[in-house]
Amino acid sequence: MARLHEYQGKNLLRQAGVGVPAGKVVKSAEDAVSTVSDLGESVVLKAQVWTTSRAAQGGIRFADGPEDVAPIARELLGLKLGGFPVDRLLVEQKVEIAREMFLSIYVDDSVSRPVLLFAPIGGSGIEEILGSSPDKVVRRELSMLKSFRGHEARSIVRQAGFRGKRLLAVSSVLVKAVKLFRSCEARSLEINPLVETRDGRVLALDCRIAVDDYAVFRHPELGIEIARELSRPPSRLDRIAYDVEKNDYRGTFYFIEFDDDDDRPRIAFHGAGGGGSMMSMDAAKNEGFCLANFTDTSGNPPASKVYRAARIMLAQSNIVGYFGSGSGVASQEQYNSARGLVKAFLETPLTVPAVVRLGGNCEDEAVELLEVYTSHLPVPVEGYKSDDSAAECAQRLRELVDHPDRWPLPGPKPRENEAELVVNYGFDTVTGGRVDFDHDRCFRCPEAVCITACRPGILTLVDGVPRLKITPREAARGKCTECLACEQECFFRGENAVCITLPIPGLDT
Ligand code: SF4
Ligand code: SF4
Repeated sequence: MARLHEYQGKNLLRQAGVGVPAGKVVKSAEDAVSTVSDLGESVVLKAQVWTTSRAAQGGIRFADGPEDVAPIARELLGLKLGGFPVDRLLVEQKVEIAREMFLSIYVDDSVSRPVLLFAPIGGSGIEEILGSSPDKVVRRELSMLKSFRGHEARSIVRQAGFRGKRLLAVSSVLVKAVKLFRSCEARSLEINPLVETRDGRVLALDCRIAVDDYAVFRHPELGIEIARELSRPPSRLDRIAYDVEKNDYRGTFYFIEFDDDDDRPRIAFHGAGGGGSMMSMDAAKNEGFCLANFTDTSGNPPASKVYRAARIMLAQSNIVGYFGSGSGVASQEQYNSARGLVKAFLETPLTVPAVVRLGGNCEDEAVELLEVYTSHLPVPVEGYKSDDSAAECAQRLRELVDHPDRWPLPGPKPRENEAELVVNYGFDTVTGGRVDFDHDRCFRCPEAVCITACRPGILTLVDGVPRLKITPREAARGKCTECLACEQECFFRGENAVCITLPIPGLDT
């Protein structure tokens, strides 16, 4: 779920016709001071960070007058809440509260529909209160097909004990909030507290909205950078990884950097499949590692996607090992993962030991590819299969990290063609990559292994050199699956006549 900041949610509520206090987002103490003339002397300054219990952590402060605002704003803008720096504040008019209420609308997977909760009490600690006194909350499952009508809202608010004008004012907020929830395809929308002011207005004093990841692309107006549930602003690598996923519909690539900054050795973690990945993360932690990131490549991603995932993971600082382990029996073709890792390990190049569990479909081929094609690296790269448990693999990585003196000696380097590659034939690929050939080398090639290695069968020999047997346009629309086989087979036979370039915007530039 992609979260919105409070100020973003309040903008949406305002547009939907729900009252919110007058306010402004600022990024400096000077701007905070200048808002006071517009908002009045008494204001509240609220740190805009995705963390719970902001008030308890000192992230919400009241101020009277400009001389009060400046030091408080400076203090808040220097804070770290939930581990992340506060870089903006919402400065709002202080409101005299007569009564607090609670409103939540969320998708309840257990009933496969949205559910609305309304309580005549609200504010901090409300979850605990409602948990222990469920009779204080009115719950309604909402129809997926019919719009939420005024009489339904009035029935809920009446059940909560409201009558007369107050009933009408509050039920109108419920109708507007449900409409907003639907229009922005939210997974959850919470207003806590919803307040009645001393002068009789109904206002949303706080607001949390989370939008369904899969709906984000339909809502550019929300300005959501990354359709993921993050507890902090996205990091540079988070952004780069998200762009890779956004631009390649094949398989799934999920990446998030962690902010563990303890003394335990940090490793890059590469999972495949939810349950197996969780188990493997536990196995790594049990060996005393701290995880620099969580990555998942599953759903049969192409080798190019695994390559990009591994390159991004290896761009993290201070890692001492690379641990790949997910579902022990993945149904995806594991040679694609192996080829992606080989390319990433050779190009980066890898400087830490890697243990990768490639259990599943075609695991024998995958492990052989991984180990043989990286055997000349000065660091060990070990592949494991479905019979090897995540715990054993994590233990092995620990041994390798702790005992570089016991690493096996690297094998011989593949024969290299010293001459510069002269590109005289090539075509584009579906993710903006390119496959280039030096046909002058191909004339002398005895085996043309690139042809047989190309599983989609899009290459053929024409006058002794490999060419597409489809149009370049078809190759660029996905018939070239970016499996990397032509490049790797040619390279490891010493011909080195193919170069596949797979850009990763933001990482390479
Ligand atoms: S294996 Fe390499 S050198 Fe041989 S034909 Fe294919 S691309 Fe050319
Ligand atoms: S040309 Fe064939 S072997 Fe080479 S990357 Fe594309 S699909 Fe793979």
